Amino acid sequence: MGVVVAKFGGSLLRDSSGYLTLVREVESLLAAGNRVVVVVSAMKGVTDTLIDIVEKPVGWEPALKNVMERYYSAARGAVVSEREMTNLFGELSRLFDELLKLVWAVKVIGEVTPHARAAIVSFGERLSAALAAAALRSQGIESVWLGGREAGLIAEGDPWEATIDYENSKTMVRNKLLPLLERNVVPVITGFVAGTFEGRTMLLGRGGSDYTATLIARFIEADEVVLYTDVPGVMTADPRRVREARVIPRLSFAEAMELALLGAKRMHPKTFEPLIGTKTTVKITMPGAESSTTVDVKGGPPPLKAVVVSEGLAVVTVVGGGLVGRIGVASRVAGVAARLGVNILSIMQPITETRISLVVKESESKKLAEALGSELQHVVSGVEREEVSAVSIVGDGLRESSISGRIVEKAAILGGVKSILWSPGSPILVVYVDPDEAWTIAETLHAEVVSQWPIKYP
Ligand code: ADP
Ligand code: ASP
Ligand code: MG
Repeated sequence: MGVVVAKFGGSLLRDSSGYLTLVREVESLLAAGNRVVVVVSAMKGVTDTLIDIVEKPVGWEPALKNVMERYYSAARGAVVSEREMTNLFGELSRLFDELLKLVWAVKVIGEVTPHARAAIVSFGERLSAALAAAALRSQGIESVWLGGREAGLIAEGDPWEATIDYENSKTMVRNKLLPLLERNVVPVITGFVAGTFEGRTMLLGRGGSDYTATLIARFIEADEVVLYTDVPGVMTADPRRVREARVIPRLSFAEAMELALLGAKRMHPKTFEPLIGTKTTVKITMPGAESSTTVDVKGGPPPLKAVVVSEGLAVVTVVGGGLVGRIGVASRVAGVAARLGVNILSIMQPITETRISLVVKESESKKLAEALGSELQHVVSGVEREEVSAVSIVGDGLRESSISGRIVEKAAILGGVKSILWSPGSPILVVYVDPDEAWTIAETLHAEVVSQWPIKYP
């Protein structure tokens, strides 16, 4: 019993059955005595379609019609009361009208501003929230839907990946949501969407509904966040690539943050950030599934949790005697990347200082290698560039060298391994590998290291 933020991902909201599942889950949370806030994503695939509608000069009309038909059809199947259905159809048609006007304006002008793009793409979540609230009301659950900004989420910066203003958002979210919860109304909030103080639409980055849920939970001091999705929890590897992947029963916040940053289960990288220092727990599950993943401060066994593959990377290495013993060379190398706006993912250097390797996105590696060659020509004798993938292993157990040692031992005898990176105290160990070998190596490390401990489900 407590306050629960229940987030339903697009993976579940494919058609009317997804919204009926949402109603069932909310009913059972309420029946258990909880107060519930719902956060919804757009229907599956709709965000991608809206992005295409904005970007592509042709074919947007049938695409928009298809989006409309999907929401109307889901509405017909999920809203059981005649009166709610009539109201909802009115609301959906108003929203589509607004969306169409925005798309028209963009097409007529022939270019799109970042705010207009964010506004158009936010409609996937707006339509979804209107539908979910009507589906709840039609089953006798009092509910209202709110856009992220209306719910009090204030953001600034890049309209596509905005930064949340914690202080103002906290006050506004509490003022908006707490009276509703007090009256036993279930607010349904658009995930992924926030707004500036003045009301312009801001988005939180792809997969942002997870982040919306944890932000709301922090502000209203919720007891639990439940992320409902189409897999029964975070798994030991991507289940589409590794058949033996199992659900991880417990994760610590430290492990979950590493996994989210790696993009495991396509979680938004900031999913766990708002909950640091709070008592809120996160459960990731599939409706009807027996298993789930619980994330809290403590975590639990087994010592190693998951293997994640990151593709599309490259190592850029500067070599040369001129690097040796010179104070400040590493900072000059990193400075070139900073000036180009290239994000450095890893830095490696032997203690002899004869080379410095930077891991960056492959798409940015060429310009970095060229700039290093020209700007540091008096210090380096050569610049090498090589495509790689990363196979990362995450687990609090890695902090013990006997456990990280097992991975090093195993990885050392696998073909295709290029480098192993682990820093003291770190719950992540990264193996850089030949891109063609990444999944084979991931499967081997998954089978022969990560799965060596039995998993106990509560
Ligand atoms: P949602 O729409 O519910 O947010 P996503 O589609 O964003 O769900 O993410 C869920 C998908 O992530 C799953 O269907 C699964 O195929 C994929 N996935 C990749 N890696 C993992 C993992 N380690 N554990 C669980 N799911 C994973
Ligand atoms: N609909 C958004 C996306 O596809 C946000 C989300 O699903 O979390 O990225
Ligand atoms: Mg997602």
